[in-house]
Amino acid sequence: MSPDLERIIALQKLVSAAHAAERRLAEEPEHETALEARLETARQGVAAAKERLAENQNARRAIEKDVAMHQGRLSKYREQAMAVKTNVEYHAIQKEIAHAQGEIKAHEDRMLERMLEADDLTAALKKAESDLAAEQKAVEADRKAMQAEHGVMQASIERISGERTAIVGALNKQVLLTFEQVSKKRNGIAVAEAKDGICTICHVRLRPQVFNTVRRNEEIVQCDSCNRILYFVAAVAPNASAQPAS
Ligand SMILES: [Zn+2]
Repeated sequence: MSPDLERIIALQKLVSAAHAAERRLAEEPEHETALEARLETARQGVAAAKERLAENQNARRAIEKDVAMHQGRLSKYREQAMAVKTNVEYHAIQKEIAHAQGEIKAHEDRMLERMLEADDLTAALKKAESDLAAEQKAVEADRKAMQAEHGVMQASIERISGERTAIVGALNKQVLLTFEQVSKKRNGIAVAEAKDGICTICHVRLRPQVFNTVRRNEEIVQCDSCNRILYFVAAVAPNASAQPAS
C-alpha cells in the first residue's frame, strides 16, 4: 500500500477517535445535570414526607388542645352538678356533661386515626430517606466513573494529538490538503473503504476503472460522488486463517 494512503487511513482513525472522545467530554455537563435532577427528586421526596408528618403532628396537637378544653369543661360541669338545687338545673348540667363526654370521645377517635396515620407517614419518611441515600450512593459512583472517563478521554485526546502531528508531518502536503478539504465538507470523515465496486459510505458505484485503481491501493483516488479518499481491503481467503501452519 502507498505510504501516504496508509497514513491517511491512520489519520482518519485518529480524527474519528478524537471526535468520539470530544463528544463524550461534551456530554458531561448534560450527564451531570441529569444526576443532579435525580438527587433533587429524591430530596423532594424526603421533604414532602417530612411535611406530611409535620402536618400530622400539628393536627394531633390541635386535637390534644381540644380534648383538654372539653375535659376542662367537663370537670367544671361536674363541680356544678354537685351544687345544683333543682331538677331542671340537674338535667341541664347532665346534658352538658354528656355533650362534653361525646366531644372527648369523638376527639379521641380522631386522635387514634391520626396516630395510625403517623405510623404510615413515619414509615414513608424512612423509605424516602433510604431512597435518597441509595440515590446519593449511585450518583456518587456515577460521578466517579465520569471523572475516571474524563481522565481517560483527556489522555486519549492528548495522545491522539501527538500521533496526529507525527503523521501529518510525514504526509504529502497535497494529500493532506485533500484530506482536510473533504473532512470539512463531509462531517469529519474523509476516507472510505471501497468494496464490491461501491463506496461504502455514500454507496455510489464506482466506475470499474476507478475501482481497479483503488484495489491496488497505490494512489490517492477520490470517490466521484462524495470525494472521500478510497482504499481497498483485500478479502482474506476463506481457508487461509483456518489452516494450521505446518
Ligand atoms: Zn463515496
